[in-house]
Amino acid sequence: MTRVARFTTSLWLLLLTDVGLTPAAGAATTLVFARGRITCDISYPGEFLPEAVGMTLPMAMNAALELIGPPATPARLSLRLLEPPSFYKRLKAMFRAEVFALQQGNEIALHPGSDPLKLAFRLGHELSHWLASQKNPARPPLWLDEGLAQLAGTTAAATCARTLKQTLSRPPPARLAQHLFALEELTRLTDYPQNAHRSAAFYWQTEELVRALRDKLGPEAFAAYLDLLSGPDAPAWDTPLRDRWYFSDWDMNWLAGQIQPEKQKP
Ligand SMILES: [Zn+2]
Repeated sequence: MTRVARFTTSLWLLLLTDVGLTPAAGAATTLVFARGRITCDISYPGEFLPEAVGMTLPMAMNAALELIGPPATPARLSLRLLEPPSFYKRLKAMFRAEVFALQQGNEIALHPGSDPLKLAFRLGHELSHWLASQKNPARPPLWLDEGLAQLAGTTAAATCARTLKQTLSRPPPARLAQHLFALEELTRLTDYPQNAHRSAAFYWQTEELVRALRDKLGPEAFAAYLDLLSGPDAPAWDTPLRDRWYFSDWDMNWLAGQIQPEKQKP
């Protein structure tokens, strides 16, 4: 979660202070990805790197790299693994997946937890934010930034599930239908929804929108679209789709349908 809504910022600081962002005794290891383009320094409280982190980090990195691509120049990321959160659990329902991880600048602070599928999701999500910030500090619009992160997280979790011969179950959020955003509303958002149901709908819909767009454009055109929308003088989200990729009103209606649960393909 990079663009922390104002109302959560102080809470995050409080929480991170509470669990101790400054590690006590611990160990560190360094892993290299993307043919040396990414160096990842991992610090952890225990003596050994948790096995689940060693397994899921490459899956998550691959998922995020496939969507966003490597940094243009060599980059260094610090992954700080934190002790399990006790205080956090009470807030889990409110903040959902992102309560366990935070990306800021070149650092990701994360609670590994006990479920490797959720860990893969969290890592994929935060790595997507980090890679997007490497592409351009201006960042893509909120819906695109979070939709990419969700999609990277889901892809990483699905890979992890296949590896462990488990089933990945991600049912749509409860009461989704009553809290949906219209396409124009979703793409205009510049701040996170503050209501838990709206927030759940926001994450679900951004992921569906990014998935639909990437499927329709194909990976190469989608990468070009992401570059266009990440620049400092980014156009409106739909302008390049209409001008460069000839999206018609029919295509826009189709996209609007893809973020509605009842119109999802089986
Ligand atoms: Zn996020």
